[in-house]
Amino acid sequence: MSGKKKKRDLPPIAPVGAPFVDSHCHLTYGTLGKDVEAVVQRAHEVGVAGMLTISTKLETFPEVLAMAERFPGVWASVGTHPHHAESEKDVVSAAKLVDLAAHPKVIAIGEAGLDYFYDRSPRDIQQAVFREHIAAARETGLPLVIHTREAEEDTAAILEEETARGPFPFVMHCFSSAPWLAEKALELGGYVSFSGIVTFKKGESVREAATRTPLERMLVETDAPFLAPEPYRGRVCEPAHAAVTLRYLADLKGVSAEDLARITSENFFRLFARAEPPAAFRKAA
Ligand SMILES: [Zn+2]
Ligand SMILES: [Zn+2]
Repeated sequence: MSGKKKKRDLPPIAPVGAPFVDSHCHLTYGTLGKDVEAVVQRAHEVGVAGMLTISTKLETFPEVLAMAERFPGVWASVGTHPHHAESEKDVVSAAKLVDLAAHPKVIAIGEAGLDYFYDRSPRDIQQAVFREHIAAARETGLPLVIHTREAEEDTAAILEEETARGPFPFVMHCFSSAPWLAEKALELGGYVSFSGIVTFKKGESVREAATRTPLERMLVETDAPFLAPEPYRGRVCEPAHAAVTLRYLADLKGVSAEDLARITSENFFRLFARAEPPAAFRKAA
């Protein structure tokens, strides 16, 4: 298995010469949370000047919010992941989400959506909880961070139906569905965020989706601590790895990494309009 590089042979992450945002990470999870000062420092060193740390359960939302309050340029979302839809179905409601989202460091609703790959909650409950989040996004005007896996048809149907009822801003996070769902999301006014999966050998359909996503609707993320991009795959992912994914996407789209950093930052602050750009972005502007 000499084809596989040993960990110590991997090059350091090359810095990007313009600040940008990791639009989706979980700074409270496991090893990231334990060493978060260093994690944030390493992110800053390679250009990742903003991070949106994501809530997956209302039960642990206070920890997510506390993390956002600790650092300038770190923001929080509030929501219940489809994995936890069943366990939180009696506590999560649009009204509750609207209430929790009043904090100025909360800039998004979610992550919420449908996960038919793991099916950890019954599908009807996932759908009902997803719709509560949509209602909260519509009411607050905060974007909904959508998690969807192996659930293209139902995700598209719910988005079409709910958008017809009244528009709401949203992003398809860690896009890994069929490319047509990215096009559907774009058609409905959404954004599409790409993680390290786009660099994977088996990431052809995600690369196809990225090819079809216009630059002005594209975001970059890590979903850290999961899904470190190649060649770091298998390591604990951290927001600094967004620099690797950003470079990869820039090559794919035929632009410089610095241009994609600027464009995805503009996209981020347009979509997540409550987020105040930290100093690094003001200097860059
Ligand atoms: Zn997710
Ligand atoms: Zn996530």
